[in-house]
Amino acid sequence: MHVILIGPPASGKGTQAAVLKERFQIAHISTGDMLRAAMKAGTPLGKEAENYMSTGQLVPDELVIKLVLERLKQDDAKSGFLLDGFPRTRAQAEALDEALNQAGKAIDAVVFVDVPDKTVVERITGRRSDPETGAIYHLQFNPPPPEVADRVIQRDDDTEGAVKVRLEKYHNETEPIIPFYREKGVLKEINGLDTPAAVTAAILEVLA
Ligand code: AMP
Repeated sequence: MHVILIGPPASGKGTQAAVLKERFQIAHISTGDMLRAAMKAGTPLGKEAENYMSTGQLVPDELVIKLVLERLKQDDAKSGFLLDGFPRTRAQAEALDEALNQAGKAIDAVVFVDVPDKTVVERITGRRSDPETGAIYHLQFNPPPPEVADRVIQRDDDTEGAVKVRLEKYHNETEPIIPFYREKGVLKEINGLDTPAAVTAAILEVLA
């Protein structure tokens, strides 16, 4: 199964991807996670990506495309994958399409999880993570337990300023690729405002 998860920042793509990965035993490929790992490891790619990411800008297409196409060649991605956060531009969508065509593969479904901008801002500005376990909390909707509350941190790009830029990039660069997949007949639209469990159920239904 070859699936793309698409949606604005904080639409729940990461949460849903974790569930779908377990369920279908396919590779979960998150470009955001890969770029954050590269930054943490201090690789040349990580250093180059850092300035773009911390301000909410998109990392240049050529870097991200190379990263993903190499990742897709790894063994665990051969029998299926779930792309989370890629493609985010028309150039990325076209490069992916071409690579899959060459490999005799195609995208089976593009799951578009939609939430309004107001919700994105609410979800992101309250988002905190535990650096020790990686657990994600929300100050209002899912507060960290008292023993964790003092150590939670905010992602650099989860500040209000960076969120504005990320939303602008989403509307200008990523939204225009939705018609590209709609025309191919693979687009599945999901309301991301429901509870995580209800969103999972809706996704499983459209993938069935
Ligand atoms: P995410 O974790 O998906 O919200 O991604 C965090 C940040 O990583 C984005 O705001 C971008 O700076 C960068 N990024 C992740 N995926 C891509 C992509 N496909 N194209 C360009 N930049 C990306």
